[in-house]
Amino acid sequence: MINFLFLDADDTLLDFSWAEDQAIHRTYRELGAEMTDEMYARYHVVNQGYWQTYERGEITREALLVARHRQMFEEYGLDCDPVQCENLYRKNLGIGHHFIPHAVEILDYLRPRCRLFLASNGVAETQYSRLESAGIGPCFEQIFISEEAGDYKPNRAYFDYCFARIPGFRPEEAAIVGDSLTSDILGGINAGIQTIWFNPKHKPGRPDIRPDFEIHDLLELKQLI
Ligand SMILES: [Mg+2]
Repeated sequence: MINFLFLDADDTLLDFSWAEDQAIHRTYRELGAEMTDEMYARYHVVNQGYWQTYERGEITREALLVARHRQMFEEYGLDCDPVQCENLYRKNLGIGHHFIPHAVEILDYLRPRCRLFLASNGVAETQYSRLESAGIGPCFEQIFISEEAGDYKPNRAYFDYCFARIPGFRPEEAAIVGDSLTSDILGGINAGIQTIWFNPKHKPGRPDIRPDFEIHDLLELKQLI
């Protein structure tokens, strides 16, 4: 019986690729450096590399957010300020939203059935702005953003922070749903709760990070909860 459900935000409920696409193009354009398709593809590789470094605990979030732009500017010989770029990007990321298919429908289904919590590794200002735009904030009993928690998924300390703030919390009745094996699923395993991997693109799994359940559409949560 799952009574406490943690939901990841990016690429689980909200389409982060869409937000990122809009924001990065807008930001570089505002800096006078129009982004080509090739640059955009390169940015994805650079960005992902830095987030993996972050998940391994080898760089701080603040440092990675700026470092990805610095590397881009160096590679493309652009005379832009990476700090200014990141500030602009955060603002632009908060503009608008795009839902993952069936996100609103599943939230409507889940809301009366269990206590919902948003568990996001994002930047607080950006995430609140996007949640406001999407109008799904009220679905959650509490929203836990890593920046405010002082730690992040998959670390146990992030989950301890969340659990300590939930009255009557029982880990044996809790689960997390998320698209990332390395942050959501590993985090749930570290925290001793059930794990549901949302894998819409049928990515290959990892032998060392095994979720309790795997779903390919959010509506499949109806079978679990
Ligand atoms: Mg995610």
